[in-house]
Amino acid sequence: MVDLMGQYEKIKEEVDKAIIDVVRSSAYINGPEVKSFKSELEDYLNVKHVIPCANGTDALQVAMMALGLEPGDEVITASFTYVATAEVIALLQLTPVLVDVDPKTFNIDPVAIEKAITSKTKAIVPVHLFGQSADMDAVMEIAKKHNLYVIEDTAQAIGAEYTSATGNSSKVGTIGDIGTTSFFPSKNLGCYGDGGAMFTNNDELAKKIRMIANHGQSKRYYHDSIGVNSRLDSIQAAILRKKLPHLDTYNANRKSAADYYSAAFEDIDWLETPYLDEKSTHVFHQYTLKTKAVNRFALQEYLKEHKVPAMVYYPVPLHEQKAYQDARYQTGDFPVTEALCECVISLPMHSELNKDIQDYIIEKVKSFK
Ligand SMILES: *Cc1c(COP(=O)(O)O)cnc(C)c1O
Repeated sequence: MVDLMGQYEKIKEEVDKAIIDVVRSSAYINGPEVKSFKSELEDYLNVKHVIPCANGTDALQVAMMALGLEPGDEVITASFTYVATAEVIALLQLTPVLVDVDPKTFNIDPVAIEKAITSKTKAIVPVHLFGQSADMDAVMEIAKKHNLYVIEDTAQAIGAEYTSATGNSSKVGTIGDIGTTSFFPSKNLGCYGDGGAMFTNNDELAKKIRMIANHGQSKRYYHDSIGVNSRLDSIQAAILRKKLPHLDTYNANRKSAADYYSAAFEDIDWLETPYLDEKSTHVFHQYTLKTKAVNRFALQEYLKEHKVPAMVYYPVPLHEQKAYQDARYQTGDFPVTEALCECVISLPMHSELNKDIQDYIIEKVKSFK
């Protein structure tokens, strides 16, 4: 699905040197590499504060802790997402309120958000799924109207840009109160282990986030709140510093590869190619097709036989997961999500795809039926 080795080969010398330099410096925790990466990412995103942490799930958890929510408070998120989003809501004893997604963009449906709001609703967590921004104009308008926080789960969309109706363009993750991301190796900006970060333009929230991620410590050995220990390693920061300058190129390569797939699949009547929302650039964390009237798992198996990996993101909606069964929800409650879980399939997508590889994949997909 990804070619991490091919990407590494191109920057091998500088990355190897950066790693060795950290080892030799012995500044393994919160060293200068972490500080430099933090400021470079702030510049790239055009955001006031970046707070690095250990992974994208921690980023969501710490962000939510910083909002001072109480057990029982409701947090609205999409029913079609990776489990981490709902997991941290549940872990903090908040109530995850799931809402359906838009069938074209796969992103949270603002009309459904509005319907799900109660007096207990405190926050909305849109997920920029597969690399394209959620409808942030609508999300922010609802949040403003009902006085809700917005945490953008940007784990799959770092570098994507959203243009609001006013004409303002911003990097996703910097529009709501807090943005969160993951540097898991296969994400668009991946390190060589685990990593994550939170972004905010709000000084107060930044202070709280920094404190919570560091054992709730205001100064060393003085703990003002219950926190967690969530840090980005210096070695990972050093690797990310070498990769960040290439992020736009990596994302552009993904977009070209996606365009090439989509042109090839355009007139196949049993496939629907990804929708491009004019308000957002698409950084194609995943290239996800909707299949029609074919057995999608048979297609996946057929591709596997021909050495083409393909994945189903995601096969089971959140409300049908064993851990998230809830008397509030039944099968049929999220028709779009349920239909997507039945029909989507994602093809190999990364920064190192070339036409030869893609031609082979395309030929195999086409020969399935
Ligand atoms: C990957 C991912 C996460 C979690 O990131 P980790 O670094 O693996 O903890 C959260 N949300 C979404 C949408 C993701 O894709």
